[in-house]
Amino acid sequence: MSDPLPERQIDTARLPLMLSALRLPSIGRHWDKFAARADREGWGAARYLATLCEHELADRTSRRIARHLAEADLPRGKTFATFDFAAVPTVRKAHLMAFGSGDPWLEQGANILCFGPSGTGKTHAAAAIGHALVEAGRRVFFVRTTDLVQKLQAAHRDLSLPALLTRLDRFDCLILDDLGYARKDQAETAVLFELIAERYERRSLIVTCNQPFSEWNSIFPNAAMTVAAIDRLVHHATILEFNTESYRKRTAAAQAAA
Ligand code: ADP
Ligand code: MG
Repeated sequence: MSDPLPERQIDTARLPLMLSALRLPSIGRHWDKFAARADREGWGAARYLATLCEHELADRTSRRIARHLAEADLPRGKTFATFDFAAVPTVRKAHLMAFGSGDPWLEQGANILCFGPSGTGKTHAAAAIGHALVEAGRRVFFVRTTDLVQKLQAAHRDLSLPALLTRLDRFDCLILDDLGYARKDQAETAVLFELIAERYERRSLIVTCNQPFSEWNSIFPNAAMTVAAIDRLVHHATILEFNTESYRKRTAAAQAAA
């Protein structure tokens, strides 16, 4: 028998290259350590391979979630962990948190509409659902509606609107923050309607809005489009009413009292 050492050295030199070509960075990092342990503890080959694969899979999941969290652009720190549910008696905690799992509403392309005055926690709640969805493996994109409308309009002008809508279609859930701040005189908000119609019954939206539906005439260019947009949004939707006093005002008052 020839000395196994040179062969082993060759394998040791080739493995990092092969593992990187196969895009298995975690196995690349761990195979050495586990090989020593396998030798020491007398693991079989199958146990060794399975252990490495488990590491690669677990790391791959956390890398994907980190990527999805970065692309989601969610406001930092606005999660369920930092949300004071007692402050919003009109919204049930279990109900709100259940949305964070994603099923079944995302499968149905259903929507969540958050209404209420400024400062009552609509954006925080929407972002918290978004964070939970990303943790659950979903893809989410949080955007201020005015910013998105501007992007959609620019895309419309250079005829790339379908391409932009396709890119937005990758997201299981789009969070449109402050829909009420989109104004029809800010050029045509018709592109916003196009987005809503495009996603209808397929892809979910979470919308936050300070104005009740009765004031939506100022958002869309004409009454017919306003009605059509509301119809599509509410057809499969949960409406959450944040009808409390402003959380900002309340905490400021509590601080002043203390
Ligand atoms: P809205 O979108 O309804 O105008 P925000 O979600 O932006 O209100 O809330 C205003 C501020 O108060 C944010 O800093 C938010 O984190 C905080 N806040 C509001 N409601 C709650 C709550 N129930 N628990 C914890 N923080 C809250
Ligand atoms: Mg808000």
